[in-house]
Amino acid sequence: MAKQGSERIKDALDHIKRAFAGHGPSTDGDKAKGATWDWLETHKDQKGIAALISLGGFRGIKALQDESKTEMRHFQRGYLLILRTLGGKSDAEVKIVKARLVSTSGQNARIETENMKTEIRSVYTKWADKKKKKETPRIYGEPILAPSFQYANQLQKQSLAPALKRASELLTQAWVGIMRINLNTLEKKRYVAYFGAVDQTRYNKVKETLKAVHDVICSKNITLYYRGIDAPTDPGEDDTPQFLLDRGANTLGPSTAYGYVYSTVQKEKEWHVFLGRAFFEDASRHGRDSLSGVIIHEMTHLLKQTQDHRYGDDNCIALAKEVGGPAKAVENADSYEYYCESFQSKVTTTFG
Ligand SMILES: [Zn+2]
Repeated sequence: MAKQGSERIKDALDHIKRAFAGHGPSTDGDKAKGATWDWLETHKDQKGIAALISLGGFRGIKALQDESKTEMRHFQRGYLLILRTLGGKSDAEVKIVKARLVSTSGQNARIETENMKTEIRSVYTKWADKKKKKETPRIYGEPILAPSFQYANQLQKQSLAPALKRASELLTQAWVGIMRINLNTLEKKRYVAYFGAVDQTRYNKVKETLKAVHDVICSKNITLYYRGIDAPTDPGEDDTPQFLLDRGANTLGPSTAYGYVYSTVQKEKEWHVFLGRAFFEDASRHGRDSLSGVIIHEMTHLLKQTQDHRYGDDNCIALAKEVGGPAKAVENADSYEYYCESFQSKVTTTFG
């Protein structure tokens, strides 16, 4: 008699678990079975899936006597089930696999069974890796938003993670560029345009600054504060961190600036950046003078005590050409910003 759909699924689940026996941690089988079960619970098409994994038995007297063939079928059903669920395959894709299983089964049943077990484990492992990746925080793009961001609008809030992600990409490209100045004339030109003639000490300083900023952007320890037009002015809602208040920082209310930081008051492994009206109203998402550029600019102040000798792309390029200019360029925040932003065609971040 044909089995009920739910029975067939239960059998298949048990065989998913059994596929792990003797392989890896003993709990993996339970996890794979549990995850498949959870998938079924949240998708509610058990009836359709039960039919999908139905393979029938083997006909003929010989087959009926051959336990290992029956065993092989069990694992084949488990494989189809896990493919359809954790494997993310569609009904149509599973049907193709099913057709293959039906047409190739019978020979060397024992070997086939071992193959099926391996396939089941592989589907689970891929699923588990993907899940783990999802749970692992991304390398960049996840700033901590201070309470004042409740006064920012949705679009403003949503731009911050991509802005950090893009900053990280710009810095990566800038790093690749700066490492190639002796191999690539275009990269050398670009470096010279922003930082002047190559001198080992200055070159090292630029490299260290780019690296320091990149490391911190990847650290996920950057807290951003909203100081745009709707920033709270009531001292009761001041979210300036205490260690800055203790040192006399006054950050309450909107600021007209792009951003500002307190580079002389540091707390280990915490980075605090205040974003003003110009950041939200004037900075672009892509291109020059971007949100990412502002963040890079502010981070160079915070991490390497850079100055604001000159503002603006053209002025930075002019500075590098002046007598004594390169020494100033390598400690000028905007020079870093525009150098990094000059790599914009190489980054891929899009804003939602
Ligand atoms: Zn500045």
